[in-house]
Amino acid sequence: MIFRKYHIVVFKDRQGQCRKLQLRGWLPITIGLVLTAMLGVNVYLFKYYREFNTVERSLNISEKTVQDQNIQLLSLHQKLQGLEKDLTRVSEFDARLRDMISLKAPKDEARPTAVGGSPEPDFAKNYLPFHRQELLARKLNAFLAQLASDAKMEKARQEELFQMVKSNQGVLEAVPSMLPANGWVSSGFGPRLSQFTGKEEEHLGVDISCLAGTPVLAPAPGRAIFAGWDDSFGWTVIISHGFGLTTRYSHMKNAAVKIKVGQMVGRGEQIGEVGSTGRTTGPHLHYEVRLSGVPVNPMRYIIG
Ligand SMILES: [Zn+2]
Repeated sequence: MIFRKYHIVVFKDRQGQCRKLQLRGWLPITIGLVLTAMLGVNVYLFKYYREFNTVERSLNISEKTVQDQNIQLLSLHQKLQGLEKDLTRVSEFDARLRDMISLKAPKDEARPTAVGGSPEPDFAKNYLPFHRQELLARKLNAFLAQLASDAKMEKARQEELFQMVKSNQGVLEAVPSMLPANGWVSSGFGPRLSQFTGKEEEHLGVDISCLAGTPVLAPAPGRAIFAGWDDSFGWTVIISHGFGLTTRYSHMKNAAVKIKVGQMVGRGEQIGEVGSTGRTTGPHLHYEVRLSGVPVNPMRYIIG
């Protein structure tokens, strides 16, 4: 039956012609098999498609989770950096207060060592590939541990400092903790190029630039031990605050020096006015702090 021939006769309308089609018995069976096979493949593909959809959905969810984690990690990273800055500030303030009380020339003591996971370019752009995420998490952990130990050390230092402050209140009162004139520090303490010789010189104080006539105020209570002329520094006043601390004010206006040797002054009391006497390029106050005669950086004692 399969190999029999079948004839299909097709007549064309009105023309009396006809066309014959010859069919073998196996052809419909083959077509049937092919259709069944195609249906099978379709069913299989549909199943595969549904699985694929499920996987894609869970992939999307995972990606979102990873993104959320990235954001959290980055924000944690920023918070930690802020914390580190705060701790450094506290530690610096602590060191400054310590210098004031012990009145020793500042030296570099232990400071917080935590390093705030240097923000690599990828982190800064808030883009975090997978391998970086793990790296950053590990870094943050180490950083946290370091911060915790720094905080513990800082706490111990502050307790010690508190005891020192309690037993040294007199010293704290003698510390020149404010700038003697309202202006900006135009030249800091330490080596600099001389404007007169062009050679490097040691600047023994700070220069505070401001208008001529700006009041010069005593930054701490004390007694004047010098008030007069100096060829280089012009009209100069030196105040002794006790505990080996002296402060020096130079280039002041002559007529405005309001203090005499031996006179006592209180903190904030006016001792003169900013001028440009002596060797100077313009009105400014040259301000020095000396500890047992040794010039120290006046900014070490300024609070705020
Ligand atoms: Zn100066």
